[in-house]
This record gives sequence, structure tokens and C-alpha cells, in this order.
Amino acid sequence: MKGFKNVKVYITGEGIKTLSVGVENGKIAYIGEDAEKITEPYPYKEGQTVIPGFVDEHIHGAVGSDAMDASEEALSAIASALPKEGTTTFLATTMTQSPERIKAALKNACEYIEKDKKEGARVLGVHLEGPYICDKFKGAQPGEYIAKPESKSFDDYYETSGGNIKLVTMAPENDEGYKFIEYLCSKGITVSAGHSDATFETVREASEKGVKCITHTYNGQRGLHHRDIGVVGGAFSLDNVATEIICDLIHVSAPAIKLLIKNKPHDKVILITDAMRAKGLEDGISELGGQTVYVKNGEARLENGALAGSTLKMNVAVKNLVKSCGVPFCGAVDFATINPAKNLGVDKLYGSIEEGKFADFTVLDGEFNVQLTVRGGEVVYNA
Ligand code: FE
Repeated sequence: MKGFKNVKVYITGEGIKTLSVGVENGKIAYIGEDAEKITEPYPYKEGQTVIPGFVDEHIHGAVGSDAMDASEEALSAIASALPKEGTTTFLATTMTQSPERIKAALKNACEYIEKDKKEGARVLGVHLEGPYICDKFKGAQPGEYIAKPESKSFDDYYETSGGNIKLVTMAPENDEGYKFIEYLCSKGITVSAGHSDATFETVREASEKGVKCITHTYNGQRGLHHRDIGVVGGAFSLDNVATEIICDLIHVSAPAIKLLIKNKPHDKVILITDAMRAKGLEDGISELGGQTVYVKNGEARLENGALAGSTLKMNVAVKNLVKSCGVPFCGAVDFATINPAKNLGVDKLYGSIEEGKFADFTVLDGEFNVQLTVRGGEVVYNA
């Protein structure tokens, strides 16, 4: 069978071991010491480590394309670029925009997912970021399209997406009686508080009603004040709530990342890239949500200086965590693999190297460079 023969491999929760990993029908069929089972080995060199493929639950675009472009070519370009940074699964992330444009993006994502393409990274579903957010912390989301959370417009979006909306970022303070949150939860959708001016009390109540994640913690939300610890304080103190973090050392400083990690259970920190279309391109003029974005030294900003997504690559996020934040290698890998899979409720099939799960692997060298990426048993990137 296909697989890795006698390699250094990270087994989630156990550590790095020397083992062989066999693949059949796109799934992991064998993990053990019998290297003879592997008759068609993937390329692998001494000094490399096999880890699970990264899961990016919050990414808008890359290499000149954006999920909001609403074209098959755009999603295909993003999906094809992501294995270079070790990502094998992602959520196409939408923006606050007119209902027509959001629906065009959702319809496109639905059609793309239904084609079940095997090249590049897998589009697992959609992260609906907005339009149900607050104006004060809209960040780079265009304010004129912000909408009040209610199930009628959402039903329209959900149907258009073919039921593929897996994650919704919304401002819980605008949801009277937390009815919308409960509605999303009843559909099995993960609800994340973000672009929100909620008080701590609101975040706490919302978490009891089903909010189980904080979107790009620290960015686009009410900060921590000692008389109201806000959304950031909610991220710190609510153990059952997962926390996304953009680990590019631009959106959030290394001490702030360390502080968050120190305050969270290990399985509640999630690395995201929040990347936009300028990722993988040279500095210059770009676009996000219909607005002009200026990219300089990899920093993407609107004219007013607001950060407008990132150009972060997931393997670099992991590297930053290890090198600048003192997180052990295996722990940093968990933040980009099993933790997002758990947050989305798909950890039975994704997020770790385990028999029965999809054969999604990333092979890193000692400097966190991606050398090989395998998705569903097929090589989708080979440096
Ligand atoms: Fe955002």
C-alpha cells in the first residue's frame, strides 16, 4: 500500500514517533512498525517530520483570488495554492457585503464543493463572516452592508450554500434573547463571536446559549478593561470557548499570544491565517470587500490604516508560535490541526493522523518549510 515508510511522524496527543503510515482509499489504513506494508512510499528525507494537514477555518483568499469573487477559478486558485503552506482543508470565508454578493459567493462555494475536486486543498464548507456584526469593530468589513441577526436572511444564505455554512462569525450583543445563536446551533453550525462590542456579561450569556468560539481574538472586538473585561476577557476566562488567533506577529504581539495561550485549555486555541487575496503575491495594491488595500512588507491595510486581513501562511504561523512564543512544536501543530477540526465538529475524520481518518499529511523540514503535502492520499504539493 501507499504511505510513509519508517518516518518521524507526529501522533496527536502522543508525540513524535518513528513509524510507518499506510493509506488505502484516501484514508489512513495502517499506523505501526511494519515498514514492509508500505510498497509505494511517498517521498521523505531524513530530518523531516510528518504531521497532519493543516485546517484553516478562516481564510478569505490567496494568490490574487478571493472567495467573494464567486467564481470556480478563484476557489480553484486558492485551493491549489494552500498545499504549499501545508493546508489540506479550509473554509472559504465570506465578507460583509450586499446579500446578492454574499449569495453569489455561497452558490459558487456550494457548486465547487459538490464537484468534489481532488486537486489542491479541500473546501470543507463556508465561514460566514458577517454580515451580522457590529459597526464599531467592523475592521475591514464594509459597514454599509452590516445586517441585524435574524433567521430569515440566514435561511436564504444557508439554502443558497447548500447547507455548507459550517461557521458563522457574528456580534452576540445584536442578537435579542440570543434567538439567532440558538437557531444556528440547532442547525449544527459553530457560532463564533467576532467583530463585536459585547460586554463580558453578554459573551458569557451567549456562550451559555451556544457560542463556542471567538473570532480572531483581540482583533475586531471589545478589549479587556478592568471593569468590563469585554470579548477579550471572555476569550481568556471562558474555558469552553475556543479562540482563533492570527499568529503573524502583526495582528497580535507575541506577549499577547502567550498571554492567551496561558489562559486557555490546550484544545481551545486555533490558528487561522485570515489571509486575503494578496497572500503569495508581491507587495502592492490589492482589494478586500470592495475596498482598496495597500500591502507593504506583507502588511495589508485599508487607506485609514485598519488591518485588512493578512498574508500569513499557516506553516509560518506555526513557526512563529514555536520561535517567538515558546510553544512546543507538537502543541503548535495541534492549534492548526485537531483544534480547528474539533471546533467544527469534524475531528472524527480530520485533524490528526489516526486510522480511519482522511490521509491528509504535511511534511515539514527542520525550518518549518513544507516539503510535501498529501490530501486524501494523493500528493497535492511536492517541493
Ligand atoms: Fe474579520
